[in-house]
Amino acid sequence: MQFRSTKSKMPLVSFKDAALNCLPEDEGLFVPDQTADFRQFFLHMDEKTSFNELVAAVAPSFFEGLLNPVSALKVAKNAFSFKPELIKLDDEYSLLNLFNGPTGVFKDFGIAFMSAVFEEILEKDKPVMIISAARPDTGVSMAHSLCGRKGISQVLLYPSGQINGLDPSAFIQNGGNIIPIQINGTFDDCQRLVIETIKDREFSERYNVTSGNSINPVRLFPQVFYYLYAFTQVKYFLGGDFFFSVPSGNFGNLLAGLYAWKFGMPVNGFIAAMNANNSMGDYILGKPFVPTPHINTNSPAMDVSIPLNYQRLASFYDEAPLVMRNMVYPASVDDALTLKTMDYVKNKYDVFIDPHAAVAFAAAMKINSTHKWNSNTHTIILATGHPARFADIVKKATGKAIKIPDFILALQKKCEPIAVISPHLDILENAIASVL
Ligand SMILES: *Cc1c(COP(=O)(O)O)cnc(C)c1O
Repeated sequence: MQFRSTKSKMPLVSFKDAALNCLPEDEGLFVPDQTADFRQFFLHMDEKTSFNELVAAVAPSFFEGLLNPVSALKVAKNAFSFKPELIKLDDEYSLLNLFNGPTGVFKDFGIAFMSAVFEEILEKDKPVMIISAARPDTGVSMAHSLCGRKGISQVLLYPSGQINGLDPSAFIQNGGNIIPIQINGTFDDCQRLVIETIKDREFSERYNVTSGNSINPVRLFPQVFYYLYAFTQVKYFLGGDFFFSVPSGNFGNLLAGLYAWKFGMPVNGFIAAMNANNSMGDYILGKPFVPTPHINTNSPAMDVSIPLNYQRLASFYDEAPLVMRNMVYPASVDDALTLKTMDYVKNKYDVFIDPHAAVAFAAAMKINSTHKWNSNTHTIILATGHPARFADIVKKATGKAIKIPDFILALQKKCEPIAVISPHLDILENAIASVL
């Protein structure tokens, strides 16, 4: 499959070029140029097909020319020692648990596959530097998957605040490949600096810099796999329409769902679940996009005022606005309802969910009660975070303590970045160059 910029039809680039040079010159973002039809690869699969079998079957059509069914299985095995887990709660709702990876968030899927792909394709090429904006609590996902990979160094930019869960022996000055840098600023500053660094052609060509955030298609597209997998798991009991409810911040997860649909997954729609940072809601309903100021909530991974993937989402709406109006349903959920929903789900189904999944659950209940769907409609809630990562909020919401597994405790261990700098490109580039 070839890729082009959201801003122009030409030139077309290969997936490899889009992955290694992840921002087009024209300020757009890479999107697939064609609509592929993946139905032949997954429609015959059922609940007995393993996640890695599905990945090996579908991935070669994305990574055309790079992966074949044999190497795709190798990459899948290298990437995934974990898999999505579908839990049917009742006739109306299922949870798609995406938090069984090494750092307890759904980002593990995209990052693990990206890391394994880079390792596979870089063997003969020059080393790359992957730069990513990370939150104090989720940057560890990136560090974990890329740690020790041959030919890859990784720069993690954190906003002010404590960073947790990194292993200092993996830092570059200790012989590892991680370069954690704290930026005196916000997460949005970190996202801006990632883009500025890549756009500084001299610097980015010297070090072969690309991004590990979902602006990079090689990070975004592996997230399509778990939607297709969820479909193979629910299709045997579906009696009617079905929807996914996606807790959204940068909208990478929702976009992966939209691509799964575009490439042939039969689905009736998506619920774009947002917390109080809901500026995309109006856009989805047909108004101009007006970013609102960043608000801190109890679902922090969704506290984004300008979603990184805005242009990709807009490309769907530019292409077929009317179709999209009947495909994506936005809903915003405040902190109080988030807590209430965590408690409701624990009482009704005896399951703990994290605040991000709770936003998706509450949004689905809102949308399902205001739209007159067919009576046997089923909604899959994407549970993006491990509830034990948010043990305090779980306790506050449900009054019950959740057992925290050892791997989550390890992620909460405090550590120090290798540099603390102000949010300026030249200062950042000097800081990186000084440790290489
Ligand atoms: C990153 C994250 C989200 C938001 O996903 P986007 O792809 O940025 O929309 C939701 N939940 C959790 C737990 C996350 O870590």
